[in-house]
Amino acid sequence: MRRISGISVECVRGDITKQPDIDAVVNAANRWLAPGGGVAGAIHRAAGRKLYEFCRRLAPIKPGQAVITPAGELKNKFVVHCLGPVYGKDVPSDKILADCYRNSLKVADEKGAQSIAFPAISTGVFGYPVKEAAEVSVDAVVEAVEGGFLKNLKKIRFVLFSKNDFEIFSEVLDNAG
Ligand code: ADP
Repeated sequence: MRRISGISVECVRGDITKQPDIDAVVNAANRWLAPGGGVAGAIHRAAGRKLYEFCRRLAPIKPGQAVITPAGELKNKFVVHCLGPVYGKDVPSDKILADCYRNSLKVADEKGAQSIAFPAISTGVFGYPVKEAAEVSVDAVVEAVEGGFLKNLKKIRFVLFSKNDFEIFSEVLDNAG
C-alpha cells in the first residue's frame, strides 16, 4: 500500500466482482459494452441484465475511452467500462492504456466515487504483457494522483486475479514514483 498526495493506492489478489467496500469497479469492456469473457463476463453475470440495459445506450466506445453506469446487482455504486488497447494493434498501446486509467479515474471522481478498483486492463485476451502493463498502469495512476485533479477519490485498488500478476503489480507499485 502506498499513500500518495493523501490517496491510498494498493494491490490485492482477488476477484473484481467481490469488492463490496469499493464505490466504483472498472470493467475491462469490449467495444459494444456487451457481456463477454474474462472481466466483462464476470461483471455482467454478477450485475445482472440491468447492467447491459444501461450499457447499450452508451456503446460503442473507442480504445482508451471510459463510461460510467450504475452497478446493477453488484454491491458497488458504479461500474466504469473502459476499452483497453489490443496490444500492438491499437497503437500507441502504452498511451491508450494510460488513457484508460486516467479517463476511468476522471469519470468516477466526477460522479463522487470515493474509491475505485481496477482489474489489469488489456492483460487478458488483449495480450498486453503483464510487466509492461503494470508499469504503464501504475504510472498512469500515480501521475493522476499527483496531478491533483481528483476531488473525491481517496482509495485506488488494483485487483489481480492471479498470484503472478499480483506479485508483478505489487513490485511495480512499491518502486513507483
Ligand atoms: P482484456 O480484454 O482487457 O485483456 P480480460 O477480461 O481478458 O481483459 O482480462 C484482463 C485481466 O483480468 C486478465 O489478467 C485476467 O486474468 C483478469 N481477470 C479475469 N477475470 C477477473 C476477475 N473476475 N477479477 C479480476 N481480474 C480478472
